[in-house]
Amino acid sequence: METEESGGAALEVHARERLGIALTQRQLQQFSRLTDILLEWNQRMNLTGITDPGQIAVKHYLDALTISTVLPGADGISLLDVGTGAGFPGLALAIAYPGLQATLLDSTRKKLRFIEHAAGALALDNVRTVHARAEDAGREQAHREAYDVVTARAVARLPTLMEYTLPLAKLGGQVIAMKGRSAFDESNQAARAIDALGGELFTLEELWLPGHQHPRFLIVVDKVQATPRRYPRAAGLPARQPLL
Ligand code: SAM
Repeated sequence: METEESGGAALEVHARERLGIALTQRQLQQFSRLTDILLEWNQRMNLTGITDPGQIAVKHYLDALTISTVLPGADGISLLDVGTGAGFPGLALAIAYPGLQATLLDSTRKKLRFIEHAAGALALDNVRTVHARAEDAGREQAHREAYDVVTARAVARLPTLMEYTLPLAKLGGQVIAMKGRSAFDESNQAARAIDALGGELFTLEELWLPGHQHPRFLIVVDKVQATPRRYPRAAGLPARQPLL
């Protein structure tokens, strides 16, 4: 178990040794400050069930940074994090990659207020929030097929998640879904949805976080064709009647 004191040190070492990311002092300070703000706000609203700073460093920050292993470069790319909650993985990626433009979308307004406060306190100028359901954003011109990379962690099962995310990815862009052990089953179940929405399964990467008994997976789906106009369907339908 990581201890309170080891949060920052563990993050620095694991990011460097496992992911090849050299976090600067400024970035480590931003992560440390984010932990303080997260724990402070967590007393007033339910943002995370993880309250040990060392565990936050691994299960939120390092987990988010595993996306770097499949990211096609970060400078200048636009990333949309769907169902970002308290900002994972999007906020952590925005700290690690100042050249990345991060849009963090959630249907819960109060979680976005936390992100806006944290981004201000950390002086992050590459973060903006969007308060919307993914299905609605996917039909708006400002967001539809507008992002190089669309990420999501712990938002929905993959057939539903594909309908949330693929309409928002640019042609030639990617969706990166963070999953646990169900990744293979969910990928198989999502085959029809991926095809119908203009995607193509590119890769499924297995990753191990320190101190974890089970692997994490990154499912990368390439956007190879424009999403047909009929998708995403009305809010709620992708969850109630997933494309199976
Ligand atoms: N991604 C974060 C993480 O891994 O810590 C938060 C995960 S939380 C379990 C799921 C989040 O997705 C919630 O904040 C919820 O409001 C959001 N969400 C669920 N369905 C959504 C939808 N259709 N559109 C936008 N946000 C959605």
